[in-house]
Amino acid sequence: MGSMDKPGSTLPSFPSLAIIDEADESTHAASTRPAPASTNGANARDARTDSKVVIVGSGPAGLTAAIYAARANLEPIVIGGYVPGGQLMITSDVENYPGFPDGILGPELMEKFRAQAETFGSRIVDVDVERVDFSERPFRLWAGGVEYRGESVIVATGASALWLGLDNETRLRGRGVSACATCDGFFFRGKKVAVVGGGDTALEEATFLTRFATDVVLLHRRDQFRGSKIMQDRALEHPKISVRWNTQVVDVLGEDVVSGVRLRDTVTGEETEEATDGLFVAIGYKPNTDVFRDWLEVDSAGYLVVRDETGTRIDGVFVAGDVHDHRYRQAVTAAGDGCKAAIDAERWLEAQGIAEKATATAW
Ligand code: NDP
Repeated sequence: MGSMDKPGSTLPSFPSLAIIDEADESTHAASTRPAPASTNGANARDARTDSKVVIVGSGPAGLTAAIYAARANLEPIVIGGYVPGGQLMITSDVENYPGFPDGILGPELMEKFRAQAETFGSRIVDVDVERVDFSERPFRLWAGGVEYRGESVIVATGASALWLGLDNETRLRGRGVSACATCDGFFFRGKKVAVVGGGDTALEEATFLTRFATDVVLLHRRDQFRGSKIMQDRALEHPKISVRWNTQVVDVLGEDVVSGVRLRDTVTGEETEEATDGLFVAIGYKPNTDVFRDWLEVDSAGYLVVRDETGTRIDGVFVAGDVHDHRYRQAVTAAGDGCKAAIDAERWLEAQGIAEKATATAW
């Protein structure tokens, strides 16, 4: 039984961020896995800066690429970011990742990915990449004042959900505020929810949420949607969805969980309150591509463009996960992408004579 089935709850029950922190610590304590080869970039036993493959990003895509690359003896270095683990680190229950029938907390799942990557010999450093030079091999990447060099690179830096920037939005994140209907919609069975935004993401999330919620209120700051006609029609025709046009969210209300939102009419300036059990912020994503823009192709929305599944316009530089995928954006699809990128990198290194041929069982 998943946590969504908690009996007797009158409000959606979200593990608080504090609970996430505790669970994360208890995961460390209770781990029965072999001690990882290294636990952090600070570990002096593994201070390598050169590798056959450098992976940038430590979400499901980056760490799955690390597991596969490590098992193919490529001894990957993962430059994981100052805030490692990606978007799952700010997710409470994950109930759609296969293998966890009772669900698992996002941070705990990422801890398991990380331990598995380290067990097989990945070096993980928790710093941000500041600059790269992909003009020649080995490719060079600078992070935390250190130069790393990779014969190949896998970019798995993900995309970050955009937020409104309200204090109470941050405080109530995971307690009714979410940026992922696929992840959290289930908790709102029989509840009322609001969705902010007017693009395809907001329209899609609103439509998806009608499976659970009794009422879905779309809050859009203008008087027309930006999203595609077909998605608009689907949302506008749905009996559970209502739209409040010219409406800006100026505050999120609630002590322990969301109880409502304060709204401002962008035409009249009038402020009102709307009761809601949940607020889904769907105002877009920002792919984390800034440091790669001089080298790799990006599309009009800023996502990396892939060639032949995981390749880029630079031979030896591969891409995995949400940094190129604005369609699926799921942990499991990102993980699958990381696997593909590692296999493609290994085969490419082998073709260059840099890596030995991996056997089917090596993966
Ligand atoms: P978009 O940038 O298309 O839309 C963002 C929406 O959020 C806009 O309506 C914008 O308002 C609103 N917004 C932005 N900032 C704020 C703010 N601070 N406060 C209130 N509202 C705000 O992003 P999406 O994520 O919706 O879509 C990104 C891309 O992905 C698009 O190309 C889309 O077509 C695609 N996509 C495709 C899907 C599919 O085909 N199934 C599903 C999801 C996305 P305004 O309009 O006033 O600027």
